[in-house]
Amino acid sequence: MSLIVQKYGGSSVADLDLIQGVARKAIAAKNQGHRVVVVLSAMKGETDRLIRLARSASPDPDPRELDSMLSTGEQISTAMFALCCQAMGEKVKSFTGFQAGIATSGPHSKARISGIEPARILTELAKGRLAVVCGFQGVDKAGDITTLGRGGSDTTAVAMAVALSADVCEIYTDVDGIYTTDPNICSDARRMDRISYEEMLELASLGAKVMEIRSVELAMNYLLPIHVRHAHGGGAGTLITQEDPDMEKTPVRGVTHSMNEARITLLRVKDEPGVAARILQVAAKAEIVVDVIVQNKSASLEGEMLTDLSFTVPAPEYPRTMELMKGLVGELQAGQVVGDDQIAKVSIVGAGMRNHAGVAAKMFHALASEGINITMITTSEIKISCIIEKKYAELAVRTLHDAFGLAGEPGGNRS
Ligand code: ADP
Ligand code: ASP
Ligand code: MG
Repeated sequence: MSLIVQKYGGSSVADLDLIQGVARKAIAAKNQGHRVVVVLSAMKGETDRLIRLARSASPDPDPRELDSMLSTGEQISTAMFALCCQAMGEKVKSFTGFQAGIATSGPHSKARISGIEPARILTELAKGRLAVVCGFQGVDKAGDITTLGRGGSDTTAVAMAVALSADVCEIYTDVDGIYTTDPNICSDARRMDRISYEEMLELASLGAKVMEIRSVELAMNYLLPIHVRHAHGGGAGTLITQEDPDMEKTPVRGVTHSMNEARITLLRVKDEPGVAARILQVAAKAEIVVDVIVQNKSASLEGEMLTDLSFTVPAPEYPRTMELMKGLVGELQAGQVVGDDQIAKVSIVGAGMRNHAGVAAKMFHALASEGINITMITTSEIKISCIIEKKYAELAVRTLHDAFGLAGEPGGNRS
């Protein structure tokens, strides 16, 4: 008998019919002899609706009150799930983050799970019952409700699975697994049977929202298998697991993109020790996460060695970062600060990149063949990312998907 944590996303619990469907699925798993804990997101659109509601009262809502409000989304879906199960004759209780023993640390709206004391969940399991837990929320040391950031229910599910020493964490969503690229952008994207933690982590960090980044990180640290499956269809899904030699045969396994980027350039700053450090210190102090950084070769201008330094930040941080950098112009005697928020990042990912030559050349050639200009490039062992104009993002994804031969049979169960 195995212990399974099943997580159902917002689109999978969007209405009563769908909630009844996932309730039947969880009950069926329990009736097969498994111990089952269910983690739910809020019903589709509910978190956005609550954010709009809070903003209608205050344009910049107090983070504590906002978290208190957002956490209600998951309380509704889990209570609805429990009611549906009870109507089917199944004994089940719903639990908020607090009731499930989920402790968090860090700021509101981006708290981290610091520990789970799942005593009440274990009691339910010991009675042979299902337990359903609110995703996305916990409680901090002060006893206040916190939320984990968008998509955070994935992290709740994985953390709960780790705390319960579950055999597997099943992530049920509106696609039937992890694809070579977003199947909603590329109709010939192909489902993968398996993907390594490292590859999934890169895909998630670079924009593939199908799995939240921290959930993959956590699963990788504890070698917990994640099985991504369709909530209402069948299919084998995708197993996120340790790398195996088969995965390395193909240099590129996935393509992804992110529109959530903006670039800032400080023109004509002095090319001397400490300048880049000062620029990034200012961003770090303001808790702005800097991603791609490019510094050009310096040129001599009127006897001084000057250079341009560009970096990218998440799009919502763009106005704030521009202001901070403008404030540095005087101190650094920089020429000017310029910015661009009409950019996107397109990335290719694959563990096989480590031992295949020519992958970057092929990527740049494919983009060039569509007239797409690359303005910044960044690489790691298993990924290459290019910053391009935003309007070309989806074309770039399809072009790279084709160029690396990732297409499969059209079809699959996608919505
Ligand atoms: P949930 O509400 O279940 O958490 P999400 O909307 O967060 O679901 O994630 C599922 C979506 O992720 C899919 O509908 C798909 O558009 C998107 N997605 C992006 N990249 C991929 C990929 N490589 N494979 C599968 N889905 C992807
Ligand atoms: N309801 C939250 C969100 O919409 C958390 C989640 O769905 O994972 O981001
Ligand atoms: Mg999600």
